Amino acid sequence: MNFQQRHAQQYADLTSPEVIDAVRDRTLVWPIGSVEQHGPHLPLSVDLLLAEDFGNAIAEGVSGLVLPTLSIGARSLPQSGGGLHFPGTLYLQGASLLSTLTDTLSALRHLPYRQLVIVNGHFENEALVFEAIDSARDAGYFGDRSVAAFSWWSLTRDEWIAENLPDFPGWHAEHAGLTETSLMMHLHPDLVRAQRPIHLDTPRSGIYAHPIDPTTFTTEGVLSSTVGASEEIGSRLFLHVLDQALSLIRTKSNNWKSDPDAGSDSVNA
Ligand code: ZN
Ligand code: MN
Repeated sequence: MNFQQRHAQQYADLTSPEVIDAVRDRTLVWPIGSVEQHGPHLPLSVDLLLAEDFGNAIAEGVSGLVLPTLSIGARSLPQSGGGLHFPGTLYLQGASLLSTLTDTLSALRHLPYRQLVIVNGHFENEALVFEAIDSARDAGYFGDRSVAAFSWWSLTRDEWIAENLPDFPGWHAEHAGLTETSLMMHLHPDLVRAQRPIHLDTPRSGIYAHPIDPTTFTTEGVLSSTVGASEEIGSRLFLHVLDQALSLIRTKSNNWKSDPDAGSDSVNA
C-alpha cells in the first residue's frame, strides 16, 4: 500500500443513492491491467498493481474517483510478455476483452461524470483499449465528455529515458525488466523477490516468429535486464509519469472549461 491508495476515492465504495451526486462533473479513472507471468522475481499482479497505483495517484491529483481495476487483460505474447509458455497467466481473448471494455463504457454512459481517464498497465491491452474507446465514441457513449487513455509508459519523455535509462531496450522488452522491477521495489517492495534475471538478446519489436524457443527469447520470462533496478529509479519514474499524466489531463480539463461548446470529436481527438 502506498500513500496514494489511502486517499483516492473509490467509486465502488459509494452507495447507489450517493453515486449520481458523487460523480457529477468529476473525473473517473479506470485502471486496466493483467494477471501475467513476470519472471521469478515479480508477482503475477505487476500490470494490474501499477495501473492501479498510477490510477489512484492521478485520481487524487484531480480529485477524481477510481473505478475498480479491470484485472484480466489481453493474451500475453512471446515478444512482449513472454507468452503462454510460463504458468500463471490469465487472459481474455481479444473479442472478449473488447466486449468487456465496451460493455463497461456503455454502462458508464448513464452517469454524469465529466472526464474519463483510462490507465493501462499491460502492453498487449493497448490496441484493444483504444478500439473500445473509439467504438464507444462512435456509439455516442461519451457525448460531450472528454476521454484520455494511455499506457503509463507512453507518457515517459525521451529526454527522461536518455537521462535515467541509458541501456533502454524498448517498452515491449521492458516486460519484467528494469522499469517494472524498479516501480515494484518502490511501490510494493514486499512482493519483490531477490533474483535479478538478465536477458541480453532482447527480442525486436513488432516481429512475431514461429517456432518459438522460450529459452532464447527470454530468461525465465524476462525479456531484458533487471540489473540496476532500484527503489530510487522506481520513485523517479513514478513521479515523472504522474507529472506527465496530470498535465495531460489538466490540459484537457482546461480545454473543456474554456470551450463549453466543444463536441465529442474535438475533445476526444
Ligand atoms: Zn508488465
Ligand atoms: Mn504485461
